[in-house]
Amino acid sequence: MGHLVEENLESVRQLMELACQASGRKKEDVKLLLATKTVPLEKLKIAIQAGETLFGENKAQELLGKFPLMQQYNQVEWHFIGHLQTNKVKDVVKYVKLIHSVDRLRLGQALHHQLLKENKTMDILVQINTSYEESKFGAPPEAALELVEQLSQFETLNIKGLMTIGKLNASNDETRHCFRLLKQIQAQIMVEKFPSVEMDTLSMGMSGDFKVAIEEGATIIRVGTSVFGQRYLPDRYYWNENARQND
Ligand SMILES: *Cc1c(COP(=O)(O)O)cnc(C)c1O
Repeated sequence: MGHLVEENLESVRQLMELACQASGRKKEDVKLLLATKTVPLEKLKIAIQAGETLFGENKAQELLGKFPLMQQYNQVEWHFIGHLQTNKVKDVVKYVKLIHSVDRLRLGQALHHQLLKENKTMDILVQINTSYEESKFGAPPEAALELVEQLSQFETLNIKGLMTIGKLNASNDETRHCFRLLKQIQAQIMVEKFPSVEMDTLSMGMSGDFKVAIEEGATIIRVGTSVFGQRYLPDRYYWNENARQND
């Protein structure tokens, strides 16, 4: 089992390097974040021992379950990549370095509130639904500029860039279109020069499409299955419609 995670990691790293070469980018400019939903601690330990330091969780509850690892390995940086309900903000800001999935003003307000209480700041990305699929979270592309402007008023939030999930099970052209759109939105926002908005980070690309994402300018790719194997829960469980409503 251990060997498998290591071998998978090695091949993902090689593919990343090839994609960087092919698109004239430096490999240091693209980070690998391991998406760890449903993955048991033993497998995560193997990845850490193989040198990985960036992990992303989708649910506050599972994040808390990874606490033993957080104490044991302080070189590891935890990110939050899932749909964040406002009532879970407290747990999440305690443990993560970057939240990839800020997609609405209300969530920004809730974060700001909590961060003020704790007298700290938080790095965030704004999630955009570039595929316009109902089943995914993220602000509509047309609303991105306004949302970033509104979020930039909260002095506790450092807006570092954008995140998207490309269209799944689609052709390379369709996914490429999603990633290009994110890059265009990034450019539009940069022109505005909003205070405390940096826009250097583009979190895009997963197991099935990270090569295309790197070609289109990803600076963080989020990979689960290619490293840890198939998950026993469908992604619907993490990206479902009900979660959207009860927030
Ligand atoms: C699960 C997940 C990933 C990784 O997906 P894989 O296809 O397993 O690589 C990336 N981003 C988000 C938001 C996820 O929930």
